[in-house]
Amino acid sequence: MQLPIYMDYHATTPVDPRVFEAMRPYFTEVFGNPASRSHSFGWKASEAIERARQQVASLINSKPAEVYFTSGATESDNLAIKGVVLNQLARNLGGGHIITTAIEHKAILESCKRAQAQQKPQGFEVTVLPVDRFGMVDPVAVERAITPRTVLVSVIAASNEVGTIEPLAEIGRITRARGILLHTDAAQAVGKIPVDVVAMNIDLLSLTAHKMYGPKGVGAIYIRGERPADLITCIADGGGQENGVRSGTLNVAGIVGLGETCRINQLEMAEEGQRLSVLRDRLKRAILAGAQEVIVNGHESLRLPNNLSMSFAGLDAETLLMSLDDIALSSGSACLSGSGFKSGAIRASHVIEALGVDERYALCTIRFGLGRFTTEEQVDYVARRVVEAVASLRELAPAPEPVRVGAMK
Ligand SMILES: *Cc1c(COP(=O)(O)O)cnc(C)c1O
Repeated sequence: MQLPIYMDYHATTPVDPRVFEAMRPYFTEVFGNPASRSHSFGWKASEAIERARQQVASLINSKPAEVYFTSGATESDNLAIKGVVLNQLARNLGGGHIITTAIEHKAILESCKRAQAQQKPQGFEVTVLPVDRFGMVDPVAVERAITPRTVLVSVIAASNEVGTIEPLAEIGRITRARGILLHTDAAQAVGKIPVDVVAMNIDLLSLTAHKMYGPKGVGAIYIRGERPADLITCIADGGGQENGVRSGTLNVAGIVGLGETCRINQLEMAEEGQRLSVLRDRLKRAILAGAQEVIVNGHESLRLPNNLSMSFAGLDAETLLMSLDDIALSSGSACLSGSGFKSGAIRASHVIEALGVDERYALCTIRFGLGRFTTEEQVDYVARRVVEAVASLRELAPAPEPVRVGAMK
């Protein structure tokens, strides 16, 4: 078995070789700008873009004309939140109120903060809803948080940290009945579990290719209704590509890859999810059987098939990951190296905090992200290594002191 083992599929995935082959001609042969209307180079690129648009639309059950290509879920999230805010302001409707949750990706939480920083009297209020200990948002709490000023509810489709799948269909019934927009960050959900924008009454949705075996730097936003300017005001002004939603020359090869990966995922999602949930449960059982004082975070059944989040009492995640140096995993505590804090400080992520995980456990939260190329042999190896590492560290280490709260990529 080849080392190191990659078990961090929530951070990113490799490009599926089939996707790569579909993209290949669009770098050197079919290199036209899809905005060039006067020659076949442009037409061919444009045809490829429209095919990809259909493939994305088919996976989420939207119309192709409701899908707009972006650079990924971060941009789509920004466009959804800030686009709605700017739209409100452009219509002179004054400020408004946004409802979101404590377990969102930073792209949502930081965009909401930006909205909150708008000057009065056009200010935006933001309500950040808590989740229960399984990471679940309560639709009744969404309903109760709605005020006459509420314009947008944004709820993650499935958690990138603990895997919990949120009750979007129930939330969508509430928002649609009140005429309030529902946005979902579905970066981890699309291509892994069924997402249906019609059945779930979703108005805006963010997705990204590199979480589902497509390339990095390309994604899409779904905007209901083929009249995007009714819902959002664009951020990037320019040539007016993507029906004015997102100016800029399209990333043709990337978009072809996004389309192809959507096509493949639509065909293989059910079977792959089944295979991964069996492997995930095998990993979970082996670690639970071998290690003491371990808890599983997230929801027992309403969770992504490829996600396992576990916390180990009395240890810290950095040390555990360091002793698992032949396995690529993420911790549910801070990326201190990347965020300018002194190394050595340990903090639980905002998501783990939001679940209210006992502090003795929270500081050693590990996320196992399984994926298309994960094997049973790898799972067994990882389980054995984790059990060994936890046991040997427990013999040595005193429990760390909590310092502060941060986030996972
Ligand atoms: C990865 C991820 C993002 C960011 O997507 P990019 O395409 O990398 O910008 C946003 N939200 C969630 C839930 C994610 O998992």
